[in-house]
Amino acid sequence: MQLQEILNAIEALYPEMVDTRRYLHQYPELSFQEYKTAEYIANFYEEIGIPYEKGVGGNGVVATLTGSKPGKTIAMRADFDALPIQDAKDVPYKSKVDGVMHACGHDGHTATLLILAKVMKYYQEELPGTIVFLHQHAEEYAPGGAKPMIEAGVLENVDAVFGTHLWATTPLGTIQTTKDVMMAGADRFEITIQGKGRHGAYPHETKDSIVIGSQLVTQLQQIVSRRLDPLETAVLTVGIFEAGNAFNIIADSARLVGTVRYLNTDIQEQVIEEMEKLIKGVCTSYECTYTFNYIKGYPPVINHATEAELVMDVSSKLQDVEKVEEIIPVMGGEDFAYYLQEKPGAFFFTGAEKEGNHYPHHHPHFDFDEKAMPIAAKTLISAFFAYQDK
Ligand code: MN
Repeated sequence: MQLQEILNAIEALYPEMVDTRRYLHQYPELSFQEYKTAEYIANFYEEIGIPYEKGVGGNGVVATLTGSKPGKTIAMRADFDALPIQDAKDVPYKSKVDGVMHACGHDGHTATLLILAKVMKYYQEELPGTIVFLHQHAEEYAPGGAKPMIEAGVLENVDAVFGTHLWATTPLGTIQTTKDVMMAGADRFEITIQGKGRHGAYPHETKDSIVIGSQLVTQLQQIVSRRLDPLETAVLTVGIFEAGNAFNIIADSARLVGTVRYLNTDIQEQVIEEMEKLIKGVCTSYECTYTFNYIKGYPPVINHATEAELVMDVSSKLQDVEKVEEIIPVMGGEDFAYYLQEKPGAFFFTGAEKEGNHYPHHHPHFDFDEKAMPIAAKTLISAFFAYQDK
């Protein structure tokens, strides 16, 4: 069996890959509610005759293709949940579900892995090692699907794990990865300030939670700019500031919700500590009470150098890959991080920029160039074979 033969077979099934993606695109399901998608994936494996397990750690589906020759076991992961966004595109495969959309390309990840599995089933007789196809639910919403799937044992006996994200802001034909931290850790916080409301004409008798909250928002911004080592990095964004409901009444309480992004856990701890000090300080000075709830989300995605190099090496040999780039980390988060905490492996971006559509991920007009899917599949399977020779 020649690798080139497999690459050609993937190319030959491109139309089916597109159909599969477009079907999934029309029937998106939210994180932790992906019942029909999981059923669809399970049925696909049923039909092509690869043993699978469903309900893994939630809605996860895991199929295992065991080759006839000895070799290493490599897991490949595709997530399959969608987002609470109204699809605003005008295309025949537009979402048929009101308010739900595959606005991150997880439909493409799923189609890529399913068709790759179909191709590899055909070559099972000559296949060394084992491929574990990890179809993961709930990537978009912490605590996510990766953790419970790992707890259910999906990485047992796995030698290495690879995953990709179709990346719509990177040109088609580009593969991007890094030998170290690739994506940020992503946390969430919620602060409530309990002031004392009253008629807007009597501010001296109140504790104005909007004024206090405003102080807090501006001071929180100084954690990154004034308290962290300038060579380190973090993001602190307040995305929700809710307070008040009448123009002439001083708001009794305020609610601030936001996210913290970081690349290493020392910085994460420092940010939490600084936040605690600031919130306490501001609220004490205004004599009001508060609650501060900090929820740790996905840790940073940290690639393993050898496996990342392998991805760069194999992808650079593919005909349809024009550029392989070693990138600096992006501040988005991903629960692929958990797999990499357990096993060697690498995550990479497959460039999927669509001509005439430059909308980013999670945008109501988001779309990607479907030609990125076979490139992703070819990179994954090339990595599988290269790993066998390691
Ligand atoms: Mn995503």
